[in-house]
Amino acid sequence: MDYFFETHCHVMNLSHPNFINLMGMIQAGTVDFLQSGVLSTSYLLTASNLRGNALLYSVMNTLSAFEQAIGRTFAMMEKDLGGFYLPPADKDTPTYIHDGAFSFRGKTYSKLALCPLLMDFSKNPVQWNSVYYTYEQEEKITTYANDTLDGIDQYRKENPNGLLEFFPFIGINPPVHDASFIENLLSTYINTTLDKTKETGKKRFYGIKIYPPLGTNPWPDKPKEMDKVRLIYDFCQANRIPIITHCDNQGFRGLSVKESWHNSSPATWENVLKAYPDLYLDFAHVGYQYSVADDVKKSLPIPLPLTGEWTRKILELMSSYPHVYSDISFTGCMPDFYHRLKATLAQEKDESLIRRFMFGSDFSVNLMKIPSYLSYYNLLDSSPMTDEEVQLICHDNPLGFLGLR
Ligand SMILES: [Zn+2]
Repeated sequence: MDYFFETHCHVMNLSHPNFINLMGMIQAGTVDFLQSGVLSTSYLLTASNLRGNALLYSVMNTLSAFEQAIGRTFAMMEKDLGGFYLPPADKDTPTYIHDGAFSFRGKTYSKLALCPLLMDFSKNPVQWNSVYYTYEQEEKITTYANDTLDGIDQYRKENPNGLLEFFPFIGINPPVHDASFIENLLSTYINTTLDKTKETGKKRFYGIKIYPPLGTNPWPDKPKEMDKVRLIYDFCQANRIPIITHCDNQGFRGLSVKESWHNSSPATWENVLKAYPDLYLDFAHVGYQYSVADDVKKSLPIPLPLTGEWTRKILELMSSYPHVYSDISFTGCMPDFYHRLKATLAQEKDESLIRRFMFGSDFSVNLMKIPSYLSYYNLLDSSPMTDEEVQLICHDNPLGFLGLR
């Protein structure tokens, strides 16, 4: 398959997130918030965002991508890569879709393969104690999954020559569901043939998305909770279905900072890998930990390797487990990121590490930090990554991770 893969994006509309969940971040208290690293200038308070109303425009830009139907957002992403939205003053900006073909660094690909990752915003009863209208909210993942499939169909219908191909991942937050619901999700939505041509009905998802800060402890103490996560790991390991887990110290949060970080930490996931060594597991965002202290490094003239504890742990797990991957989504918005990634790989002895990184954007969340989907591709294009490395992270590695037949 001659696909260019973008393995980490989010396409949703305003009915899908659970804004009460997100309010949990605020409820958790000011100290928690300040210590979380959210105020790091590497996260959202970037130099350009701090200028005037830029942060406000970023929020509006991000939300406007949530306002339309999913199928239209897919078409918008594709058009953006062709330069459709570029203002005349930016006409020299490189674009990647010309005459019905996607090309990058001089190589033409037959399709642009996206992995839209769904987040399971279903209600967590504990969070609803302080809310008056508690009855309106319930299970939210099946609607989101069906809307995503409808969005794919709408995109195809409206763009018969469109270059996008889709490998969506379904979100599951085990604590808010019972075991039979989870079993049902897996058997309804996952295409275990790993063959795009053998999609039937709703079996059009290719992996599971876990979002620990929304409530998933990947290795819980309570036996009932353990049974539910094991159900997922058993299914994934037996059927070679990959899992992507959110792994930076920011993002939507439904828990306290401390619990979020415990659940997200690669050290917690190591327990899963010990029990399921054949699991295909992607730690998203390279495990980046935003902190005010880390911001100092940005001012140094030579890019330093990534030294965060979570990133180090991910590299260690990659060396021990052949199916551990990491995607660079969102973290790739940092201007010096690719330099730091190269510096990191250069100092490691294990030369196979470059075979485990995957290109991903975190669109539309990444619009909080950069102006457009196109500009995220521009960052990779102008990065010091060689053409061979680009081919690995955008083609070979994602193909191996997804295990497509
Ligand atoms: Zn994401």
